[in-house]
Amino acid sequence: MYRQAIHKLLSGLSDARLVLLATLCFATPFAGAYTYRTCDGNAIKWNGNQTTMYISTTSFPAGSTWDSRLQNAMWHWNNVKGSRFLYYVNRDTDGSHNDNNGRNEVYLDNSLGGGVLAVTVTRYHCYWLFGYQYGIDETDIGFNNNISWNLGSLNYSNLGSPYSFESVALHELGHALGLLHENRWMATMNSYYPNSGPLGHYKEWDPLADDRLGSRVIYPDSTTETDIAGSAFKRTGTGTSGLVSSPTYAYRGTNVTIQFTFSNQSTATKSFDISFYLSTNDYISTGDTYLGSNYGAWGSEGFTGTFSRTLYIPTTVAPGTYWLGFIVDPNNAISEAVESNNYMEMPRSITIY
Ligand SMILES: [Zn+2]
Repeated sequence: MYRQAIHKLLSGLSDARLVLLATLCFATPFAGAYTYRTCDGNAIKWNGNQTTMYISTTSFPAGSTWDSRLQNAMWHWNNVKGSRFLYYVNRDTDGSHNDNNGRNEVYLDNSLGGGVLAVTVTRYHCYWLFGYQYGIDETDIGFNNNISWNLGSLNYSNLGSPYSFESVALHELGHALGLLHENRWMATMNSYYPNSGPLGHYKEWDPLADDRLGSRVIYPDSTTETDIAGSAFKRTGTGTSGLVSSPTYAYRGTNVTIQFTFSNQSTATKSFDISFYLSTNDYISTGDTYLGSNYGAWGSEGFTGTFSRTLYIPTTVAPGTYWLGFIVDPNNAISEAVESNNYMEMPRSITIY
């Protein structure tokens, strides 16, 4: 009746020699693909739609960057609209942990081997006693203390060690609220780091569209959100992700082809325009050299996808180093919860001759 599930997040295939997505149509059919445990068809969840995580102060001192990254990841799950789930924070000061003490502990684990980034152990129950009784009882998250962690922002040119702590925290906290791995679509809950990556120019670690939909299905409420975000990542295989492709050089007066990804974080289908630009820096803005638009792109709730676009480099551009990129909803036709994730540069510069 009482069960224990262990989820290990593996360091992914570091190599991007995998399938390129080159979907040309925006109207991609999509069915929600998030997964979770069920008991007689019901989602196994935290009763009361909330739980408290006890952060080990010997591993992650209160007020440390570790602590703020952890709490930031919890806040991002709490901030998913259409889901009533909430994480609360407390401290575990005894320097020990136990996965069967009724307390959700978060700590650095010295016992994990290489290749494993973190482990979430979840205890839950499902049995019949004059009706099905089910729920999550405890979840403990151990981060591997034998690997190198990056507490800063992700470096696109290094998707291996040191590993982004906030990325892994967001993934493990997805398990802790009841989500399982999802490898069919881009998702924070992909089995392999970097779990489809962060969003927007500022590289924010936010649950992707599919993960948000999963949380909404387990913990539904009537709140809504509208947000479309750009990403520098794409799906590369079963549970794996890597950077979108774009050329590193081009000649003026020629065409280049880039890939671009957007995630519909919203609680509904959204239609929007996307404009493409050439910028002298890695911050794409409407003041940069305009290269064209896609009108009426759309994504259903839960959709994150990658597309290709061919762009003409004008002969009037001076030779030099630039960034190609795009802006979702460039005219601000849609009022979004987060506007700062609409600006997305390619994850590498381009030299124009
Ligand atoms: Zn996992």
